[in-house]
Amino acid sequence: MTADFRHFYQKSWAERTAIVAEQAQLSTAETALFKQYYLPQHSEIIENYLTDYPLPMGLAVNFVVDDHPYIVPMVTEEPSVIAAASNGAKIVKRAGGFTTKLTKREMVGQIVLEQLADPAKTAEIIMAHQADLLVVADAAHPSLKKRGGGARRLRTRDLGQGYLSIDLFVDVQAAMGANMLNSMLEAVAKSVGVLTKTNALMSILSNYATASLVQATCELPVSLLQAGRYAGKLVAQKIASASTVAQIDPYRAATHNKGIMNGIDALAIATGNDWRALESGIHAYAARDGQYRGVSTWTTDGQTLTGTITLPLPVGIVGGSIKINALAQLNQRILGLQTAPELAKVMVALGLAQNLAALRALVTTGIQQGHMHLQLKSLALAAGATATELPIVLQQLEQAPQQDLATTQHLIKKLRQTKEETDD
Ligand code: NDP
Repeated sequence: MTADFRHFYQKSWAERTAIVAEQAQLSTAETALFKQYYLPQHSEIIENYLTDYPLPMGLAVNFVVDDHPYIVPMVTEEPSVIAAASNGAKIVKRAGGFTTKLTKREMVGQIVLEQLADPAKTAEIIMAHQADLLVVADAAHPSLKKRGGGARRLRTRDLGQGYLSIDLFVDVQAAMGANMLNSMLEAVAKSVGVLTKTNALMSILSNYATASLVQATCELPVSLLQAGRYAGKLVAQKIASASTVAQIDPYRAATHNKGIMNGIDALAIATGNDWRALESGIHAYAARDGQYRGVSTWTTDGQTLTGTITLPLPVGIVGGSIKINALAQLNQRILGLQTAPELAKVMVALGLAQNLAALRALVTTGIQQGHMHLQLKSLALAAGATATELPIVLQQLEQAPQQDLATTQHLIKKLRQTKEETDD
């Protein structure tokens, strides 16, 4: 059966859900899920809205960043992530907490010109009119200047093959700034067109936010790293080696950074920030010298383990969907945030905490030991265990030679049979 999706965007919510139910042959119970998670105001945010998609939200604890304690809301579907963040932060807290540095917070956008016979000459014309073009940029979003932000400078880059990028740097204040910057860029592109007698190929912000870098460091006495039978000094050396491997091997670097993004994305989602924007910028930054590398480094002198992470984090506390996302606003309250840079600082520290916990587990007991209990819990729930059955199924699964779905389903079936027999 093929339902009619023509003019789908013009249909009401009830019509849309009915069409999807017909197309996918959904049961009444399945269709009821649309209603269960439906938030009417969200139909104003995205197109063809059906329903919301819930993800678990929890709190990471133990964070001390620049002498200030934080509890960190995280939205993630992955078990162990919040436990690891809290665990990493706890170790760092014992050594005084994270120290962060944020020197600048500007967004950059590009106006790309093409088919230039003499890019250097065009660049010269642009830079000669920099002051006027910055005025044009500010006029496209005047409220930003009133708030103390606004267009700051231009830069030109000859990209080769006749392409020239005109980069506009803007202080976007408390917002992430994508939309504001795009409006400014389109206005500047018109003036550039008049000045250079060219048509811009495109005008858009760059997610490679190199003017919004934020750094976190921590210095840990090696004694704090002791794990089971592994002495702290040895753990520190192994973490430093793991860090080296993430610098020289992209296969390892990708996983090293994935662990860091477990925290960054979870906080970005919890605060209504655009995590795709952060992902693309961070991975571009990880490959800034031509090779993809870990974004954090760990070194040791035998007494102390020093961790450093630097990330482009152009996050906002206003703008985008934040204003209509009650939970994003609530999470700002939980964090006690005053400014956007403060959010960036907590976020970068979270990335380093996540990384510390992952590396410490990896080079000692292995990642699975910590993960396994939570993974088994997910497995038992996926296999249909009820809240009452869960502890028994988990206990049996831990002893089972195979820990897979079939085994779990078998254990649940046996448990239910035994219960039936006892009830009889
Ligand atoms: P908005 O378009 O929502 O603009 C920011 C809003 O916040 C403005 O309305 C501004 O008001 C208001 N505001 C209130 N207080 C402040 C303050 N102190 N500082 C700054 N602004 C303030 O959001 P952004 O421009 O931040 O754009 C972010 C959105 O853009 C995200 O949803 C993102 O997903 C999306 N996006 C991302 C792209 C990318 O990453 N490549 C591309 C395009 C869009 P006023 O108008 O009075 O200034």
